[in-house]
Amino acid sequence: MTEFVKKRPRRFIAGAVCPKCSKMDTTVMFINDEEEEVRECIECEFSQTSSEQAAEDSAQEMVTRVTPVNGKAVLDDGEQPLKIMQMPSDKN
Ligand SMILES: [Zn+2]
Repeated sequence: MTEFVKKRPRRFIAGAVCPKCSKMDTTVMFINDEEEEVRECIECEFSQTSSEQAAEDSAQEMVTRVTPVNGKAVLDDGEQPLKIMQMPSDKN
């Protein structure tokens, strides 16, 4: 085990579901050396910075939020939607 992980405070994100292993309440968040928020799963190898997630979010929005205005999707440039991980609990 590495020691450096201790120097930065990590906090669990309540109700967050890991996008990789789909477990709930296993995701922690901390700030890395680049002052970026990093989400990490304690159950699997999942790790993602806020910028990586933002890129993924906008990519998903392009798909899910199709607004057919002359074939172009309308996105608000200035807005940074806060994403809250919330998945329907449809587990068997
Ligand atoms: Zn995971």
